[in-house]
Amino acid sequence: MTGLLIRGATVLDPETPLAQADVLVEGDVIVEVAPRLAPGGARVIDADGMILMPGLVNAHTHSSQSLDQGTTPNLPLDLWMMWAVYGGLELDGDELYTTAAAGALEMLRTGCTSVIDHAVVFPHRFHEHAEAVMSAYDDVGMRAGVAPLVHDRDFFESLPLYLVGDAEPLEPIAAPQDVPPLLRDLEAFLERWGGRHPRLTPLLGPSAPQRCSDEFLEGVAALSRTHGAGVHTHLLEARSQVLATRRRWGRSVVDQLDDLGLLGPHASYAHGVWLTDAEYATVRGSGSVLVHNPISNLRCGSGVMPVPQLLAAGTPLALGSDGAASNDNQNMFEAMKFGTLIQTMCGHHSTWPKPDDLWRMCVLGGAAALRQPVGRVAPGAMADLVLLRGARHTTVSKEGLVSSLVLSEHGESVATVVVGGEVVLEDGASTRVDEPAIMARARALNDKLHGHLDGRRQVYESAEATLTRMLDAVDDEPLDVERRMLSGPR
Ligand SMILES: [Zn+2]
Repeated sequence: MTGLLIRGATVLDPETPLAQADVLVEGDVIVEVAPRLAPGGARVIDADGMILMPGLVNAHTHSSQSLDQGTTPNLPLDLWMMWAVYGGLELDGDELYTTAAAGALEMLRTGCTSVIDHAVVFPHRFHEHAEAVMSAYDDVGMRAGVAPLVHDRDFFESLPLYLVGDAEPLEPIAAPQDVPPLLRDLEAFLERWGGRHPRLTPLLGPSAPQRCSDEFLEGVAALSRTHGAGVHTHLLEARSQVLATRRRWGRSVVDQLDDLGLLGPHASYAHGVWLTDAEYATVRGSGSVLVHNPISNLRCGSGVMPVPQLLAAGTPLALGSDGAASNDNQNMFEAMKFGTLIQTMCGHHSTWPKPDDLWRMCVLGGAAALRQPVGRVAPGAMADLVLLRGARHTTVSKEGLVSSLVLSEHGESVATVVVGGEVVLEDGASTRVDEPAIMARARALNDKLHGHLDGRRQVYESAEATLTRMLDAVDDEPLDVERRMLSGPR
């Protein structure tokens, strides 16, 4: 690879002033940012009048849901799970390849170059499914940390169903898994991919603490230590999880994770809405990254993360779209906008975060979650770069430009995308894969997913009454924190 010289763009970097400059890339790294650089043997991209920003980072999604837009009603998380997760079809390897490739293309087209994919795989086809997802990111050219999502406890075991007694017990909905084979599959995945690919990183992805036995979580922590692997999981997304985890462990789930060795800079936690101040302090002290998913939290009524307080305390925060079943797209510009605006419902206006706060969460927080030197347009950073046509946005000031991007852009200005020094999207089209063919397969799969809505509804209705009574009881339980603003009669 001879390199790239991106010439004359307005360079938007989170840590330096806005400037017009050339950016020289050698291999997969930015080596120089300065005016009038000599190209040497590098390919020159004339970017006059364009904006060059670091690729956005989506620090939490589920690729298996990438084609689930419009399949799932707005419902509280525990009811949503019945419809979106347990009512869904089991996809095969080819279909999971299609969902991951379609999601990756959507992210590239909307300026996102890195993702943490908490990728749903089915334990009985673990390797086929994990390989399918890795292959999709390999082919499309996106940077990805892939955390196969697994758990060993039944979903209903993870809920505070004690609140409604056991008059109508629910049959298990997911077969409990034996821990040793699950851990062997995860270890084989780490050995197969760890340090083997310039853009792809294997991660450990227990679904959520309450859906895992202590034996499994201890095994995950041991694998993380042995292989130096990152851990990615959900944490206290919904109110019900506070009650379920306190009941199970008799104490804070955060303290339990800490004792299990699952907190630290190697760990990122999606959602983190319902932690107490003390729990947030424990997470912050450990260096773990919390991944905010504002659209998904709105979609499932999970509540509003106290972002201003967390930012003020210096908590590492990243930003995610979450899966399309709880977001309907994978657009990180939208995630930044919602993340900015949702906070106007909470607290004094002097505490509302600025668009720049959400942008920094997305690029710098995302880099911390991914544990890779991305998110910058600066020497030494990975050359994950996005060129935007400048017509829509002013470059008079950095503050104005970031606000314009966060609040008015949807990705329509994205022209060229570079990942690891390679142009993977040019004039809005993939340079690597047959996009029309993938989108045709995606369209057919989307039809199939929508064709199964009655099947989803049946699964949902089998538990709707019991879970609704449970959620009403959850709302009646006093907690130390409240993250939703409920006004008027329930
Ligand atoms: Zn999620």
